[in-house]
Amino acid sequence: MDEMTDINHELMLDANATAGLLYEIFGIEMTASPTECASCGQEGEVGELLAFTQGPGIILRCKTCENVVLRIVQTPDEIILDARGAVYLRLARKT
Ligand SMILES: [Zn+2]
Repeated sequence: MDEMTDINHELMLDANATAGLLYEIFGIEMTASPTECASCGQEGEVGELLAFTQGPGIILRCKTCENVVLRIVQTPDEIILDARGAVYLRLARKT
């Protein structure tokens, strides 16, 4: 394990720590939403992604290949979501 990996893992958040932010963005509970990593094809729930804090944003990485799946940055005026690392995100409709 190199030094960069050590630093990243020190910054790692529990998935539950990001659940509140995801709820704020999507308006629904996201941790059980299915998603697929665009890099390696790993499918799983959003709550299984590895969450890291980095600057003002949160990075959610694939647990298998550690590529970035979702990147979320909050500013006072907006929330910026970069989802290029995800093949899809499936959100349950509110009933
Ligand atoms: Zn992956």
